[in-house]
Amino acid sequence: MSDTPKPRLLIIYTGGTIGMIENPDTHALQPFDFSHLIDNVPKIKMLDYDIDNIQFNPIDSSDMGPAGWAEIAEAIADNYDRYDGFVVLHGTDTMAYTASALSFMLGNLHKPVIITGSQLPIGEVRTDGEENLITALQIAAATTFDGSPMVQEVAILFENYLWRGNRSTKMSADNFNAFKSNNYPQLAKIGLGIHFAEEALWRPKEKQPLSVSTKMDHGVMFVDLHPGMTQATLRHQLNTPGIKGIVLRTYGAGNAPTSGWFIEEIAQAIARGMVIVNVTQCVNGGVHHRRYVAGDKLANAGVISGHDMTSEAAITKLMYLFGLGLTSSAVATRINTALCGEVTLS
Ligand code: ASP
Repeated sequence: MSDTPKPRLLIIYTGGTIGMIENPDTHALQPFDFSHLIDNVPKIKMLDYDIDNIQFNPIDSSDMGPAGWAEIAEAIADNYDRYDGFVVLHGTDTMAYTASALSFMLGNLHKPVIITGSQLPIGEVRTDGEENLITALQIAAATTFDGSPMVQEVAILFENYLWRGNRSTKMSADNFNAFKSNNYPQLAKIGLGIHFAEEALWRPKEKQPLSVSTKMDHGVMFVDLHPGMTQATLRHQLNTPGIKGIVLRTYGAGNAPTSGWFIEEIAQAIARGMVIVNVTQCVNGGVHHRRYVAGDKLANAGVISGHDMTSEAAITKLMYLFGLGLTSSAVATRINTALCGEVTLS
């Protein structure tokens, strides 16, 4: 018998399709409890791990938000020393937001937090939930040659890939391979085996104690450009009460209309103390403010480049930075800093 202790893993169940069952009257899927989920994965007993679980009131992830993120982060922090890794079961719809938020909230993380779910409920014959759950547990238990955790960050496991959480986006409402990180390589490819791309994995610079910060500021929003947007619409959005930070979703390499009124509205909002971060509407690539006049004007007005950040990472990063109580200028500076692998600063 080996004297290596069994990996200790904690499953945190928050809801999502993976644990849902059909409402007998409406036939719509609705969240259900964890015992139903786990009863459908008898193979879990074949894993030589010590597995415990925490169940939240299960929800569709459309209802997930800062309060739920704080609950997950606190559950991880409270159990951090007792477990080698954490698997969070979560709906796919807002999974990339949760993964991004947790990556900021869990400072100095050096254990795996693997988020997964499924496209088909665990009770269905062709479910992807069983495989996703088993693989997520195996990834959470994986170690390097010296016994340290292979994954030391928040990651999303879905079907054939492991992705960095704060680089991920839900790409498909139908495919089993539902997630992708369009500007960062996969952390692992899952086939017959689990093949980690070790050079892509996040490694904390020094091992410091976990520092959890669960306060997220709700005063943020997206402004999504479209051709024909009027001055009244833009002004209305930029003047939304209580908003301090905006993720401006622009065209191509970070371009926006060059009309005087457009730039003037943006410049006035920034003069009022608003932090405006530019991310591209394109699924791949990032913002290059100086490539076109249409981007240059935004930069000159004080808009900050979000480089190649996802929309999900940009909005949760703003919530996190304002949640720390920082001033607008401090937030603007920190947006341009890579906190946990969420952005490539060139
Ligand atoms: N609506 C579900 C959710 O996000 C979708 C899923 O889990 O796949 O909770």
